[in-house]
Order: sequence, then structure tokens, then C-alpha cells
Amino acid sequence: MAFLFWGEIMLEMEHELRAISNGQAEWIQQTVHVDYDNNSQRPLGFSSNGRYNKVIKLLGTFKGDLSPNDLTYLVKTLDGNTYHLYLHLSDSDPLLAPSHIRWTLDFRVLKRREAIVLPLWKSLAHMRLEGVADFHGDLCPELVLGCKACHMALELLPGLNTSRDIMVIAENNSSPALDAIQFVLGCTMGNRRLRTIDNNRHIYLFVTNIGGYGVKLSLKEICFNDEDQFNKFERKVVGGCATLNDAASYQKLLDDRVTKLMDMDGEEMFAVENVRKCFVCNIFLAESLVHENNGFPMCAVCQSNMIGNSSDIVYH
Ligand SMILES: [Zn+2]
Ligand SMILES: [Zn+2]
Repeated sequence: MAFLFWGEIMLEMEHELRAISNGQAEWIQQTVHVDYDNNSQRPLGFSSNGRYNKVIKLLGTFKGDLSPNDLTYLVKTLDGNTYHLYLHLSDSDPLLAPSHIRWTLDFRVLKRREAIVLPLWKSLAHMRLEGVADFHGDLCPELVLGCKACHMALELLPGLNTSRDIMVIAENNSSPALDAIQFVLGCTMGNRRLRTIDNNRHIYLFVTNIGGYGVKLSLKEICFNDEDQFNKFERKVVGGCATLNDAASYQKLLDDRVTKLMDMDGEEMFAVENVRKCFVCNIFLAESLVHENNGFPMCAVCQSNMIGNSSDIVYH
């Protein structure tokens, strides 16, 4: 499916990129001296206005947009600020002419309380989503999708809410949606209530193992009307050649998708099918394919084996 594995950006950087894409930055544009560690390839600290700022964390590295070899660094400093440092390599061969390196302290990201809080986080439902996002590491479209699927399954199968025998079979093995399933329903690989099949698609089977029934939710094609832009930025971010602006634009598109998905009804997102478990081989199948044999649900194969066996008995 075209939209499996929407980008992953870690929570801390996500906050900063969101702020940047909303213009919440204080522009500095000052040439500075930077201590750079060649081994770890990261800035250790920089001086600005007679003050030394020690870097405690590198949040991300990006491509610059002044010349092809430029790099930029989004860093967190000891005083809790986030800065964007721009390394401009003006010479054609920067490795041979280190003297042509110039560092610019580009801007400081405004802190949360200085910035406007996004409406995204206001409602109760969204706050619950924040808990899942903390567990997973960021708030991304596929995480929302996983949450929606869980809530939809709980509505369709009210018995599941209290039952510990709920089991999920997911037809992909690396979507953030799996984290939502683990967080919301408590189904994990460890307790064997979450199984995955690597079919690379958003199909989720929620079943009660004891009752032998459940629902299968298959993601419908969703049009975001941003596909060209989205794919362009995603390619850059995944390929490691995104500028900070690319990354911020990408974050903005991800947020828009998250908002859109949160506002959608479950039925708009997923096709629903009731499933039953074959009494003999334990495979879950669509209700329309179930054969009733003396009141026991069976799949076509088990049903025909059963008939074959009984005819054996009759004719031999
Ligand atoms: Zn994610
Ligand atoms: Zn069967």
C-alpha cells in the first residue's frame, strides 16, 4: 500500500520542527566560533555575545541551502535552548581548505511557553493520544491510524473491552500502528496477543480467541491531496538530504495528516468485515466464507475434508 511507513521523526525534534514550521524562531544570523568534534561529527559548543553555550544534544543534521557541501545542525544547549547552526563551506574542496569554513548562528527556537500551543493538543482525545505518542516516540499518522483501529474494534466487539483474551493479528510488522495496539489494548508480542504477518499492509484482525469471532479492519485508500509534496519531502528526509526547511515542511504535512485522520470516522478509514474461527483448523475467515457443520463454523477446506472422511466411511 502506497502509504505504509509514513516518516518517523523523534518526539523532541518533532516539537522543534513544528515550532520552526510555524515560524516560532528568533532570528540571530550571527557569525560565531564553534568547537567542532571531528570524531563524533558534532558541535560541542559555541560562543555568542561573550557567552559560551555548551551543546548537550544534537537533535538533527541537515543539508544547507547556500552551497552543496553546507551542513546545518539543530542542537540543544545546556541552558535548555535549541539553536540552528549553519556550517558554510565556501570553497569548492572544503577538505583541503578548512579556513573557508564559516559558522553562522542562524536562529533560536522559541520555547513552548513562548510559542502558541497547537490546537492539536487541546481536546481530551488528543491528550490521550499524547500518552500513546510518548510511548511510541512521536505523533505520526500511522499511530493515529492504529488508535482509531483499536477504538473501532472495541466499539464493534464490546466484549473485548473487559476481556483479556483479545488477540490482534496485524498484516505488517513495523508500522507505528503496532505501538498503538500495544499501548491501547495491551496486546504485545511478549504476551502472544499480538501476531504479525509481513504483508506490508494496514489490515488488522481483532479477535477473541475463546469466542472465536472478531472483526477485520482493512485500511481504505485515503486521499490527502498533498501526495506530490509529501512524497518529495519524504524522499529527502529518508535519503538524508533534507534541509531544515524541508524537514519542517515535512513535519507540517505529517501534522496535517494527523489532524485529518483524527477528524475522520472509523468507517471512512477502514473497511469492516466480521470474521469467525474455523472450529477445526483455527483459521479466522470472513463470515461469508464460513460453512456451518452441525452448528460448528468451518472453513471450506475443513468442510470438504469432513465430507471426504465421512464418504470414506460410507463407501469402504
Ligand atoms: Zn511515529
Ligand atoms: Zn479449517
